[in-house]
Amino acid sequence: MAIDCDINKSGGAIAFAESMCSDGMCCFTCVVPADNGHVGFLRYFWKRGTGSLYVKLLVTSKGRKDEIYNSCKFLNFLGSTNTANTSLTMDLRCGIYKRRPYQCMGYPDIAGESPDYKISGPCLFNEYTAGSTYQKLVYKREWQAFYAIQDQAKAFLSVFPGETALSARETLLRITGVRKATIAVGKKELDYILIPIPKKTKNVLYLSEDHEPITTIRQAYCCWEEKIQKNLQNHYGEEWETQLKNAIEMEENDASKRSDEDTACNAEC
Ligand code: SF4
Ligand code: SF4
Repeated sequence: MAIDCDINKSGGAIAFAESMCSDGMCCFTCVVPADNGHVGFLRYFWKRGTGSLYVKLLVTSKGRKDEIYNSCKFLNFLGSTNTANTSLTMDLRCGIYKRRPYQCMGYPDIAGESPDYKISGPCLFNEYTAGSTYQKLVYKREWQAFYAIQDQAKAFLSVFPGETALSARETLLRITGVRKATIAVGKKELDYILIPIPKKTKNVLYLSEDHEPITTIRQAYCCWEEKIQKNLQNHYGEEWETQLKNAIEMEENDASKRSDEDTACNAEC
């Protein structure tokens, strides 16, 4: 991927709509088989969402090949800007929410490839916002995610209803962290505008009794032992338990150091 280095560092802010699951990250990956098979015959009856034709999820990590994901064909990606055109709000929504397939209904409390193979785990956005120690242990790398919007008028008209393509594009490029990139999709190279996905979970992360935000590796492992253990065994083989123990120790030592520093600072202040 070729990235334009001209990144706006002091522009407007990016946020998600104040609504649960407005990040829609799992609709690009976890519950979506490559052929959109999970939606079965429904795919012939409902019209596509606004996201699937023009928006992709891009995951980058240092030293690794970029990963690019297509969305489910029913995902709506809606962007809006404030009246002064200085900030961007994104809302990703299922276009067939009431009739969505069983994989989507149960996710992330019950996730799995088939009704016979279910395993619950933290959802993708929960892992994305969990922080680098968790990512480095469970994925062996730290990753950053972007929505990649195709740099063409039809895409802007579809994602920003009520705006002209030109003004939507100009606003996007004024937002902090947004950048242009050329991405190889199949055999073609296409121009995209990358929007860094914010890591703020408030009002966005799906929550339930079984699905709390990840705060520490120990807490996440207690909640989702089976899923996390599988990842660790894949990455570290027989060494997985030692790696887990070391990461927990390191994270807890760091937290205790931080708390000692805060206490010392409060006493001095
Ligand atoms: S918060 Fe989790 S379950 Fe909700 S859309 Fe995001 S990734 Fe999916
Ligand atoms: S059917 Fe709806 S909830 Fe399921 S992946 Fe598609 S957009 Fe997401």
